[in-house]
Amino acid sequence: MKTKLGLLYGGKSAEHKVSLQTALAVIRALDLEKFEIHPIYINVEGGWIKGPQLTGPVENVMALEFSQGNQLSLAPSLFQADKQDQQPLDVIFPLLHGPNGEDGTVQGLLELLNLPYVGNGVLASAAGMDKVMMKNVFAQAGLPQVNYVAFIKSEWEKAKEKAYVRVEEALGYPCFVKPANLGSSVGISKCANRAELEAAFGEAFQFDRKVIIEEGVVAREIEVGVLGNDDPECSVAGEIVPKMDFYDYKAKYEDGDTALIIPADITEEEYGQIKEMAIRAFKALDCSGLVRADFFLTKDGKALINEVNTMPGFTPVSMFPLLWKHTGVEYPQLIERLVNLAKERHAEKQ
Ligand code: ADP
Ligand code: MG
Ligand code: MG
Repeated sequence: MKTKLGLLYGGKSAEHKVSLQTALAVIRALDLEKFEIHPIYINVEGGWIKGPQLTGPVENVMALEFSQGNQLSLAPSLFQADKQDQQPLDVIFPLLHGPNGEDGTVQGLLELLNLPYVGNGVLASAAGMDKVMMKNVFAQAGLPQVNYVAFIKSEWEKAKEKAYVRVEEALGYPCFVKPANLGSSVGISKCANRAELEAAFGEAFQFDRKVIIEEGVVAREIEVGVLGNDDPECSVAGEIVPKMDFYDYKAKYEDGDTALIIPADITEEEYGQIKEMAIRAFKALDCSGLVRADFFLTKDGKALINEVNTMPGFTPVSMFPLLWKHTGVEYPQLIERLVNLAKERHAEKQ
């Protein structure tokens, strides 16, 4: 029996286009002897459109469009295999990044519908999406990380000067200002002085009502993939070497000339430290399925956790799949492992 796999992609988030790229790559990699694919597209307005299929020039994933899909208003009917077959799909793979996809909202819907789905549950997704919550959980778990402060928009609007002074006293320059709930470096600024800090707050608050400000560190950026449920495994480490000042959205998705070095040239001891921290972070957030755990590695060999991404970039040339490839798990097998982990986790809950 083929597994009826629902691929949820697109999404009402700044990372919509990245998700299209991922969906196309997953569709191409799936073994059609084993899987029946059911693409479900969420457009930028948040409308849900079911099949028939993803079309467009495959060389230019940014230009993909949906042909004659049916706009459906009731989510449960989306998750049926088709009109004749009233059975629900077997597993849903939410290939969604950012808010309304990676943040627990879609996961909550799937929980309500009692459908198995790939990746993290509601809690881990929500906590992993909110950089302030995530860092608070890491602090509780004793994981080393940069110092940070956070503000909500109304607080800042009432006392801007006070907010800037607090940042300067607690963190100094350079610092990074980020919307709390986003990814792909959207809305993030590096600030070297007060004028830049003021501009950065304005920018970040365009994307979220909450911002986090972090102490800037000079460090290498090392990432590992974690895969599993209760007993997760860690991949080899990779290093990101951005050509730009920092790993911003353009460097991530448009330039393509950011070097990914796998395996990262780090010592056994540094890798051991990172691996232990990655698994501890996975457990602290009660993750399941997968995360990519991102670290700063300082000159003196100290690892600081930067973040985990609960639905990391997932094209065959993205860091997470490449890390697993170097660890011995090819892309199609990685997808199968994730689908099986989803089934196992679901079975445990029944
Ligand atoms: P996102 O979730 O959008 O990927 P990150 O917190 O990972 O956001 O920040 C994006 C990039 O900005 C990082 O990969 C790194 O290059 C740079 N950066 C972020 N925070 C810091 C920091 N505290 N010190 C130094 N560089 C940072
Ligand atoms: Mg992130
Ligand atoms: Mg990041």
